[in-house]
Amino acid sequence: MEYHVGNTKILCPCCRNNTFDKDYRQLNSRGATFLGLDWANRNATILVCHQCSYISWFMDEPEEV
Ligand SMILES: [Zn+2]
Repeated sequence: MEYHVGNTKILCPCCRNNTFDKDYRQLNSRGATFLGLDWANRNATILVCHQCSYISWFMDEPEEV
């Protein structure tokens, strides 16, 4: 699957491939909770490059092309 954010098509910064698998990861950790960093208790979207497996992280979910 290909993705874009705004008008920008997402390319892998490592190998310039443009197809990814989308997944989600919790950003919270015990350390962040202990420090009261509530903003850290969020889901991030990750895109895993099909070609080299590089993971790109996004706070806002990219749209599928
Ligand atoms: Zn790649």
